[in-house]
Amino acid sequence: MAEVWDAVVVGAGIEGSATAFQLAKNGCQTLLVEQFPLPHSRGSSHGASRIIRKAYVQQHYAQMMKEAYPIWEQVQQETGTQLYMKTGGLMVAPSSSQQLDQTERSLAGAGSEFEKLISDDLKLRFPNLSFPADYRAILDPEAGVLKADKALRCFQDLFVKYGGRIRDEEKVVRIDPGDVVTVHTSKSTYKTHRLLLLPGPWAGKLLAPLGLQPPLEPVRISVLYWREKQPDTYALKKGFPVFVDHTIPHKYGLPSLEYPGIYKLCFHSGPVIDPDNRDGVAGSHGNQAIVRMMCDYVRKHFPGLESVPAIQESCMYTNTPDEDFILDRHPQYRNIIIGVGFSGHGFKLAPVVGKLLCELAMDKQPSYDMTPFSLSRFHNTATPQAKL
Ligand SMILES: Cc1cc2nc3c(=O)[nH]c(=O)nc-3n(C[C@H](O)[C@H](O)[C@H](O)COP(=O)(O)OP(=O)(O)OC[C@H]3O[C@@H](n4cnc5c(N)ncnc54)[C@H](O)[C@@H]3O)c2cc1C
Repeated sequence: MAEVWDAVVVGAGIEGSATAFQLAKNGCQTLLVEQFPLPHSRGSSHGASRIIRKAYVQQHYAQMMKEAYPIWEQVQQETGTQLYMKTGGLMVAPSSSQQLDQTERSLAGAGSEFEKLISDDLKLRFPNLSFPADYRAILDPEAGVLKADKALRCFQDLFVKYGGRIRDEEKVVRIDPGDVVTVHTSKSTYKTHRLLLLPGPWAGKLLAPLGLQPPLEPVRISVLYWREKQPDTYALKKGFPVFVDHTIPHKYGLPSLEYPGIYKLCFHSGPVIDPDNRDGVAGSHGNQAIVRMMCDYVRKHFPGLESVPAIQESCMYTNTPDEDFILDRHPQYRNIIIGVGFSGHGFKLAPVVGKLLCELAMDKQPSYDMTPFSLSRFHNTATPQAKL
């Protein structure tokens, strides 16, 4: 009889890799299956940098970030790799912003430090930014940059170190639920007691045949890099913080690691696309409008940057309507666990996501209230007519 794995994880992005690591570390014989050759740049977890911060509007994430930092620290220690660079994080918005008010409450509720800046402080401390007099800000001192590509590699290395096995270039093409789940890939068939699905933007394609249709939208994000007029104006080594403008839709910026003298500043939204055709027509039309808008934004608020992007890349978010993740069991097949809908803010939280999904898979009491992440918060997620 074929080997039955304790767990099979589908998707070797940051969420699947962090989850696989937790399972292996907790003694589960685990297989991690990925459709593309690793590493790849076709999902959501590629690129050199991501923002890490405690400053969150939602208190549950502010709480979870308190645990994420020490796990990132453990991963750094265990792999001997620097992944986190502390820069501080500047969150700006008009003075009337309820989002900033709520972020202050979340940080205070989580017992995390922060600093409030009124308009004059903002001008004095950050003379290379230009915001109207009715703007204010919060400084999150623990915020910084995560070295994303390296972080992904570290989780995969640790997973293998704890006995896990990775199979890349194998697409999962069919899942037969049961007490023992059968997973058919483009190359093989695996049997497992638990299946964890972390397919990123491909979630809709993998979940529909299992009778689930949560409201997920894969969107294309234009990753825009802007040349500094004077090198190092917004540089990490000059202590320039990571940046979020809470005016909706959000914009965010971080000192670039990959291209010296070039700052990364992006729009937190994009056109809905098919993940297998990310850069197709729909994506490129939406991209042009976003680039134009961001050129205006740079001209107004970042006078030290040239106002035409020097480099453009692509990435994808998988958005839920409320921007909360979905971390839950399949309502019918209890040994199928789902982690999707990371809505463009899941990287920093991956260590805690991995821990929570591992707890669900191993029938342990989850460390956090799972209500915000439940599949059932959306109506009509089930498609009973779907072929199983
Ligand atoms: C431009 C950009 C900037 C961001 N900035 C931040 C930030 O500053 N801070 C932050 O916290 N977060 C940020 N995020 C969000 C964060 O990167 C994502 O939430 C996170 O990477 C999602 O990871 P994932 O593992 O769910 O998805 P993915 O990385 O897409 O991984 C899913 C994997 O599943 C595989 N897969 C899918 N279907 C199958 C199948 N059938 N068979 C086998 N394999 C399959 C895919 O190939 C893929 O590798 C950003 C995202 C983008 C795009």
